[in-house]
Amino acid sequence: MKKKLAFIIPVIILIASISAIKLINNPGLKDTAASYTESVRTVTTQSPDTPKQTAANFQTVPLPETSLKSDNTVRIMATGDILLGRGVKYWIKAQGKDYRYPFEKVADYLKQGDIIFGNLEESITSSEHSLTGIEQKGGKYVFKNDVESIDGIEFAGFNLLNIANNHILDYYEQGLFDTLDILDKNGIAHAGAGRNIDEARKPAIIEKNGIKVGLLSYTEMAEATYNGNPPLCYLAGPGKAGVAPKKLEYIKEDISKLRPLVDIVLVSLHWGVEYDPNLSPGQQEFAHEVINAGADMIIGHHPHQIKGIEIYNGKPILYSLGNFISDQNESDNQEGFFIDAQFSTDKIISLKAIPFKIVQKSQVVPVYGSDARQLLDKLTGLSVRLGSKCSISDDKVIFDFQ
Ligand SMILES: [Zn+2]
Repeated sequence: MKKKLAFIIPVIILIASISAIKLINNPGLKDTAASYTESVRTVTTQSPDTPKQTAANFQTVPLPETSLKSDNTVRIMATGDILLGRGVKYWIKAQGKDYRYPFEKVADYLKQGDIIFGNLEESITSSEHSLTGIEQKGGKYVFKNDVESIDGIEFAGFNLLNIANNHILDYYEQGLFDTLDILDKNGIAHAGAGRNIDEARKPAIIEKNGIKVGLLSYTEMAEATYNGNPPLCYLAGPGKAGVAPKKLEYIKEDISKLRPLVDIVLVSLHWGVEYDPNLSPGQQEFAHEVINAGADMIIGHHPHQIKGIEIYNGKPILYSLGNFISDQNESDNQEGFFIDAQFSTDKIISLKAIPFKIVQKSQVVPVYGSDARQLLDKLTGLSVRLGSKCSISDDKVIFDFQ
């Protein structure tokens, strides 16, 4: 009976989950509703379930600082999905901590970067008006960050955020506007969403050490319409707030406008199949087109677990960096890499991937030695399959550009 139940319950959850997502009034939509379903795996991770990964699981030591600062180069740190709401919030509070706590063990390392990038997967707002929750028919997972969470984001050193994703409008336009205001007030550059399509496609440009870096951001799920009062499509329009869609035509046009203004072009893509280390059909070809159009590095996120890193024509494609901080409880959602990349004005000089685990659903902790081995082997294996040359050294994956 137990065995039977163990089979039946996940199936029921899966069916309920798939049928819960409804796409409304969108005849032009190519993808199916199922491709937008936030996987069943998330159902099991509602707070306050007990974190599977606790500090006792592995040794933690502080990351050594390395000094690579130079006037002629720019150092870019890139992280994946940042979700400080729901279970992360619960476990921060349960331990009597504040929003700096998640980043206490990585902030010193990250802040060695000139540019520190992340995907802000939730709006920062105090608004209570959200789309319909997943527990109701046609609803979705709705996430938001407390307004105080900006303190942690600043503390970690983030100065460049992607906001083109499938959660930034979970609290409607108000959630997005509050996020834009708070990021602007705190001097954090952002790209991928705005008060209209022009704003959503507008690059964020940061100049450091005399080198100009521009970021363009897009999301694969822009055309989906989610149930709520009223229903909402996240796609930005001429007079409509929202996100920039992952359309090759837009990306090519935007890169060609940005290219003469900056030295380094970064393209952030919120894309790919969730909870799967493999690339989706056409994903690699799309990435190559974006590099051919003039991008120097693609930073991917959304699948909540890592995918491989490809070096194509000397340019890195980070298909998915995994969660940086999130409450999802399976082991591959509670680990990932952040990237430490150094660029000169015209090319990349080095790229390292640094492994970490998320402990007690609330803190990013770099890992070493035997604790890191499996994760290092996983990224190396996935990347070699994409033709990359890389090796493990000093508990990091080092990519070769020769
Ligand atoms: Zn996402």
